[in-house]
Amino acid sequence: MNAFQEKLYEHHSQVFTMDADLYQARTKFQDVLIFENRLFGRVLVLDGVVQLTERDNHIYHEMIAHVPLMAHGAAKRVLIIGGGDGGTLKEVLKHPVERVVLVEIDDDVIELSKRFFPQVSDGAFEDRRVTLVIRDGVEYVTQAEAKFDAVIVDSTDPIGPGEQLFTTAFYERCRNLLRPGGMIALQSGAPFYNPEQLDSVCSRLARSFHAVRPFLAPVPTYAGGMLALVAGGEDHKALRPPIKALREQFDRLRPNTGYYTPEIHRAAFTLAPAFTPAPKRLAKPERPPLPDQLVPLTILSKINESLR
Ligand code: SAM
Repeated sequence: MNAFQEKLYEHHSQVFTMDADLYQARTKFQDVLIFENRLFGRVLVLDGVVQLTERDNHIYHEMIAHVPLMAHGAAKRVLIIGGGDGGTLKEVLKHPVERVVLVEIDDDVIELSKRFFPQVSDGAFEDRRVTLVIRDGVEYVTQAEAKFDAVIVDSTDPIGPGEQLFTTAFYERCRNLLRPGGMIALQSGAPFYNPEQLDSVCSRLARSFHAVRPFLAPVPTYAGGMLALVAGGEDHKALRPPIKALREQFDRLRPNTGYYTPEIHRAAFTLAPAFTPAPKRLAKPERPPLPDQLVPLTILSKINESLR
């Protein structure tokens, strides 16, 4: 039996059976592997890290798109950095947006996703509201002059081309591209396995955004089954609006979601203690330091305190 083993963490790994090999090659930026697994359907792997599967990608894409856009309530212009599979783009287009710019560094990811995962984008790249830019997201945000209501960073992990999308300087540039009331949302890995990353992402974002709050999405594909996302904006209440406001907006839009609901939006911001930084007495797993390394401010503990 062929198997793919994801070795993202030193003392833990996950294994998928490769029930059919579909594609394997190196692009200009990263290694791509696509295979079929009987439980998850087709699986996309970049640089040895599982990015998405047919079975559960909608949970991730709905949460990273609808949480900031529903919280904003009137977003017209949206910037997506990464997201070459088109899943986040498809969800963003369910809102009455006027323009969406998607900046992906690797056009091979877009072409391979259209070919092997057509349902993930479901024609989103052909929507007339979409502008596709093949470019490094860091370069784009450094030079862009256009302003946006929301920036969604749908990146790989801070390894390879995604590394620079986790720096203080990048977040500051994103904030400068936002119109008043603008929001940012991004993924920050598996919080149980890598609480330091989430702590550091929140600390860095907090330098540019007054309100920063992590929220969770259960995505069985990712090690541990729980993915951390982070939202940033001008004030905490705006990121997690009252249920009445969310329900009214949801009824108006009827965005056809399989996971996101207004109730889940609010509940996702309640972090269990298990997802806060690891106690110091546990040996820290060795992993490459994040770029632009900061001393963790244990900001998550403070955020959790404020939610109680
Ligand atoms: N939505 C999936 C998930 O659940 O994690 C996958 C994320 S999507 C495939 C991540 C994309 O970010 C990749 O296609 C990768 O090429 C892109 N990316 C990585 N670094 C980038 C950068 N510096 N600028 C723009 N795109 C980048």
